[in-house]
Amino acid sequence: MTDSPRIHLGALLRSSSDDARAQGTLDHLHYEQGGTQQTLRFAEPAPFEVSVNALGGHEMYLQGSFEPVLIMECARCLRDVQVPLELRLGTLMRHEPSVNTPFLEEAESGEEVLVFGAPELDLSAYLAESALLAAPLSVLHDEACKGLCQVCGHDLNDGPCEHMAQVPVEAIDDELGIPEGSVHARQNPFAALADLKVPEE
Ligand SMILES: [Zn+2]
Ligand SMILES: [Zn+2]
Repeated sequence: MTDSPRIHLGALLRSSSDDARAQGTLDHLHYEQGGTQQTLRFAEPAPFEVSVNALGGHEMYLQGSFEPVLIMECARCLRDVQVPLELRLGTLMRHEPSVNTPFLEEAESGEEVLVFGAPELDLSAYLAESALLAAPLSVLHDEACKGLCQVCGHDLNDGPCEHMAQVPVEAIDDELGIPEGSVHARQNPFAALADLKVPEE
């Protein structure tokens, strides 16, 4: 198991080799997003396999596979949900010696290009981004997930909590009343009457 996936591109850059390969398994990935360190968690060791071929000049092509079982949170109850992904990787690369942190750049063709500087390329950010792009935006652990009680945070999938028993739905409606200017207020024929000026006698 490797802590950060790396591929050595020195020989490729010196033109003493036509391709470079790397493979291994990852139990998590650290990557940076918006200046903060993030961790992508996997349910089991995730195999990756990458090869990079020289295209001439400063350009190369990376291809390979990455098959993580992502751990995401249920959008309603926050329990862990396993999301298996089978990624086929295929990305143009460009070597720019002055680049410190590898980044993805959108080419004019709309294709993404992985730009890097150091010959020993850390693939963490690239693999994390590929996985996040392929993952659903949100998941439910079960289509019928009941979520959490908004008062106490109790997981309603484990059964009702005291708040549901204490506050029947009708009572909640009465307490909240009808907000002014809401559809209900406008549709209520008696709402208009309240504004009528009754002549005084
Ligand atoms: Zn859930
Ligand atoms: Zn509750």
